[in-house]
Amino acid sequence: MHSPTLLILLVILLGIMALSQIAACILSPRMRTALMYWAGANLFALLSSLNLLLRDTQPGSTEVLTAQASQFLIAYLMLMGTRCFAGLKPWPIRYGISLLLIHVGTATAFTLVLPSVAWRIIGSSLIIGTLLVLCARTIARGPIREYPARYFFAFACGLHALFVFTRIAVVSRSPELAVELTHSTTVPPLMVLEAIIFLVTTAISTLMLVNETVTTELRRLADIDHLTATFNRRSFLSLLNKAIGTAERTNTCLSVLVIDLDHFKEINDSHGHRIGDEALAHFAKTATACLRNEDILGRIGGEEFAVFLPNAAIADAHAIAERLRQHLLAEPLPIPHRSIPLTVSIGVAQYHAQESIESLLHRADKAMYRAKESGRNRVESSPLPLALPAVTE
Ligand code: GH3
Ligand code: MG
Ligand code: MG
Repeated sequence: MHSPTLLILLVILLGIMALSQIAACILSPRMRTALMYWAGANLFALLSSLNLLLRDTQPGSTEVLTAQASQFLIAYLMLMGTRCFAGLKPWPIRYGISLLLIHVGTATAFTLVLPSVAWRIIGSSLIIGTLLVLCARTIARGPIREYPARYFFAFACGLHALFVFTRIAVVSRSPELAVELTHSTTVPPLMVLEAIIFLVTTAISTLMLVNETVTTELRRLADIDHLTATFNRRSFLSLLNKAIGTAERTNTCLSVLVIDLDHFKEINDSHGHRIGDEALAHFAKTATACLRNEDILGRIGGEEFAVFLPNAAIADAHAIAERLRQHLLAEPLPIPHRSIPLTVSIGVAQYHAQESIESLLHRADKAMYRAKESGRNRVESSPLPLALPAVTE
C-alpha cells in the first residue's frame, strides 16, 4: 500500500464527508448544530491529512505543532457535536481554548524544550483518546434496538480510542519506534488505513443518525395533533390498545374519560374560529397540567378529547375528571380585555376484563351524553355492565 495515495484518498473522502454533513442539515434542522461541529471536525481532519502529505516541505516543528492542534480540534469538535446531538450544551469556549493550549503546550515542550517524541505521543494520545471515549459515552444512550445508529457511532469512536491508546503502549515499549515514525518521510500505511476505517464508520453512522432523527420526527408528526399538541385519534387508540393489553396481563385497572367542550359552537360563532382554536389548545394545556405522567390525553374529534388512566379504578378516575373540570372552570381562556369561561362534560368508564376498546369508549361516551343532558359542566360515570367483573388490582 502506498501511503501518499492512501492519504490523497483520505483527503478526498474527508472533503465529501464534510460536504455531505453540511448538506444533511437541510434534511434534519434539529441536528444542524451537531452536524456543523462534525463537518468542522472533518475539515480539520482534511487539513491534518494535507499537512501529513506535505510533511517534508515544512520545518519539522511547524508540522508537529499544526498536526497536534488539528488532531486535538478533530476530537474536540467531534465531542461537541456529539454533546449537541445528545441534547447537551457544548462546553464553554474557554474550556476548548484551555484544553487546546494544554495539548499544544505539552507537544511544544516535548518538541523544543525536552525533545522526546515518545512523551509527545503519549501526552497527545491520552488527551485525544479520552475525548473519544467521552464521545462514545455521550452518544450511547437509550435502548440499542431503538437507536442502533448511536451505538454504531459509539463503536466507531471507541475503536478509534483503542487505536489511540494502543499507540501509548507501543511507544512506551519501544521509544525508538516513535522517533522512526516521525522522522520517516511517509506516514505508515496502517495509520492511514485506520483513519480511513474510522472515517467510513463515522460517515455511515452519521447518516444513520440523520435517518434515525428524521424518522423519529416524522413519527412524532404523524402521531400528534399539531393544534393541541396531544395525541391524534389514531395514535391515542393505538396507545389505549397497548394499555389495555398491559392492564389484562398485569391484572390492573384502567379507566377512560371522554371529554366534550360545552357549547363550543357558540365560542366559534361569537369570537371567531381562531379564538376557537386557541380555546382547544388552552383546554389541552390545562388538562395536561391536571393529569399524571402516565395518563394519556388525545384529541379524538373536533372539540372532543379522551384520556386513559392506567392503574385508576372508576372512583379515582371520577375524582381526576372532577378535578380537571374544576381546574378548567378556574382557568378561563384569556383574550384581550377579558376571558372566556370554558366548561366540559365528562363521561368516565372503567375497563372490564375482555371488553373491546369500542365498548369501553362507547360506555364513556354514553356517560358523557348523560352529563350533557343533566345540564353540562358535569362528570358522570358509567356503571359496569351486569355480570362482568371489573379488573381489580
Ligand atoms: P355541546 O355542548 O352540545 O357539545 O355543544 P357544542 O357547540 O360544543 O357542540 P357541536 O357539536 O354543536 O359543535 C361543535 C363545534 O366545534 C362545531 C365545530 O365547528 C367546532 N370545531 C370542531 N373542530 C374545530 C376546530 O378544530 N377548531 C375550531 N375553532 N372549531 C372546531
Ligand atoms: Mg361540544
Ligand atoms: Mg362534540
